[in-house]
Amino acid sequence: MRKTLCFIGLSAIIVSCTTQKPATKTTYKPQQKPATTQSVTKTTEKPHIVKDHGMEFYKENIGDITKNDNTISYGSIVSAKPAGYKVVKTHFPAVAQNFRQKYLILHYTALDDDKSAMVLTQQSVSSHYLVNNLGNNEIYQLVDENKRAYHAGVSAWRNDKMLNDTSIGIEIVNSGFKTDASGNKIFVPFDEKQIEKVAALAKDIITRYNIPPTNVLAHSDIAPTRKQDPGPLFPWKKLYNEYQIGMWYDEATKQNFLSQLATTNFATESAVNTYIFKIQTALNQLGYEIMPTGTWDANNKKVVEAFQYHFRPEKYDGIVDAETWAILQALLQKYPPAK
Ligand SMILES: [Zn+2]
Repeated sequence: MRKTLCFIGLSAIIVSCTTQKPATKTTYKPQQKPATTQSVTKTTEKPHIVKDHGMEFYKENIGDITKNDNTISYGSIVSAKPAGYKVVKTHFPAVAQNFRQKYLILHYTALDDDKSAMVLTQQSVSSHYLVNNLGNNEIYQLVDENKRAYHAGVSAWRNDKMLNDTSIGIEIVNSGFKTDASGNKIFVPFDEKQIEKVAALAKDIITRYNIPPTNVLAHSDIAPTRKQDPGPLFPWKKLYNEYQIGMWYDEATKQNFLSQLATTNFATESAVNTYIFKIQTALNQLGYEIMPTGTWDANNKKVVEAFQYHFRPEKYDGIVDAETWAILQALLQKYPPAK
């Protein structure tokens, strides 16, 4: 099957875009206290605004550091301009605000450099950033971080769905995979310099928006029945070890879980309904969209395959072996689901 691009067209989503909430206060009252007495940060300070080509940009922290909202915002300010009224937006920012950007989603384009840029700018799919494979120091920004790019499609993680609304998307130029005569997927390795570029960009984004490790994900994690990208050759472990990006398990914890399993006949022991239910539940608790039923179906296997792309890249056949199960348990222990 010839693969074209790693995501589907999403023109239907455009109609639901209602993300902007312009301020409507018409008087500036610096003596007024903020709604919560604990929140004292910057409520009466003017954020620093700069103008460039007729547009205004914040250059300072407009968030509330007491609410873990301490990132400098460089976003553009988009406001209403109602006839006959003045919208006052720069003098009195609300305490009650946070960032829309909760997730960072990584992709490969499955296209070369030229076609990637063309498709992501001219068609019904897009991403905030495109990391080329040209060996230079450039990263292309295609969509303002404050706006939605159409990169995730139908997607879910933990309690969130349709992650275009809440994510930043990075597309990486990479050819994806070819299928050999036996039906195996053969993935194309990533360039080392390109990965360094991705790491620097990802680190910048997750730091500014305070995106937690559990929300730095592959497209295949949030859409496992449809997507494989960025695939098993994307170096998640290296990003975790060298840049503190995303999730990874502790080796000792994994070994501990592994030592408790009957690795020689794990396949037989784990084939019973109660065991399958337990594994499906764990996948769901980590974040994957999977309904525990006690039996494996084709979509469940794709969820396992997506998990293996990310956390067990040496084996991605969609079958849970002892190692996969030990890794899953080690991850859940380190990153438990929110209560
Ligand atoms: Zn993708």
